[in-house]
Amino acid sequence: MKINFNDPISASQWLNTVQKEELKEIIRYFFEDASEEEREALYSCAKKLREIHYGKKVYFRGLIEFSSYCKNDCYYCGIRKSNAQARRYRLSEEEILACCQKGYELGFRTFVLQSGEDPYFTDEKLCSIIREIKRQFADCAVTISVGERGRESYEQIFQAGADRFLLRHETADENHYGKLHPSELTFSHRKECLMQLKEIGFQVGAGFMVESPYQTYGTLAEDFLFLRELNPHMIGVGPFIPHKDTDFAGYPAPSSEKTVILLALIRIMLPKTLIPATTALGTVDDQGREKALKAGANVVMPNLSPIEHRKDYALYDNKICTGEEAAECLFCLSNRIRSAGYIPDFSRGDYIDMQDSREISIDRQEGGEGMCG
Ligand code: SF4
Repeated sequence: MKINFNDPISASQWLNTVQKEELKEIIRYFFEDASEEEREALYSCAKKLREIHYGKKVYFRGLIEFSSYCKNDCYYCGIRKSNAQARRYRLSEEEILACCQKGYELGFRTFVLQSGEDPYFTDEKLCSIIREIKRQFADCAVTISVGERGRESYEQIFQAGADRFLLRHETADENHYGKLHPSELTFSHRKECLMQLKEIGFQVGAGFMVESPYQTYGTLAEDFLFLRELNPHMIGVGPFIPHKDTDFAGYPAPSSEKTVILLALIRIMLPKTLIPATTALGTVDDQGREKALKAGANVVMPNLSPIEHRKDYALYDNKICTGEEAAECLFCLSNRIRSAGYIPDFSRGDYIDMQDSREISIDRQEGGEGMCG
């Protein structure tokens, strides 16, 4: 395959124009045929583009998993409603604020509130929590990840002060979507939600699993085309890891390789996007997050949830970093990031075109030995 990755800007422009068949072939080539040298050229191109826009900063987000209840039954998910083995918990507003307080003291300036689709958290309850976080921590960004809701609900959440919304699309191929979800959930509705979130004014995150059951080069090409159309501010891409209490329990956990290739291609196609080096990638490969950073990722999301509930928010098996206090996770990740040649950054870390020019980088200089390995 003749692609010139030595000129990152041209490579980016080119990848933004290729159509489905060519995209399929590019992905197939890097998965199956590319030499080590060609893959390194791909990663290096992605890394240069990320450095053009974000330098060597790696943004920290404090993740608070506040409810493991969910009304949905996505076939791959460990906390789907029909899993009777899942342990359910909800954090109170006070507990969520205590997580934010702890995170704030550690230096975090973004909090990500994530849950299953839990009807207990009505718009009123959720908005009250968001308003209180913004009142107590006015210099922080709040990201919400609570799944599909109606437009009015999204508007209220935005009015309450939430800055960002994460909603992975999982797969942009309707047929594939139907193999991973029950019939009441559709890609077209997920897409509608994402488009609405963007129109309302959120910084929006989409994303998908790599090597999910029934995924093909065709469905991956659809993911790329959809991401190009949506042009989200954040893209989360992590390996599919089976959960023992799901229909996909027998599937193998993948290596990190394909995820890292796709992260690099996405960075090249949409160079300004914020891209996390996910915990799932660190779960399948001890060096997975470092590999992602070297292929263009620039965000990490350590867990601020109370330690006694970490294991209960198990979307997949063997999740790392469920046994450490937030401070230990933070030291571990910060040290790993510095060792990889990057700069941990605790500022809000908005999408580059939305950054306040006065936004200051905050690099904490903690020492401490890595704990979560
Ligand atoms: S993936 Fe999300 S919406 Fe689906 S069952 Fe799991 S928590 Fe619920």
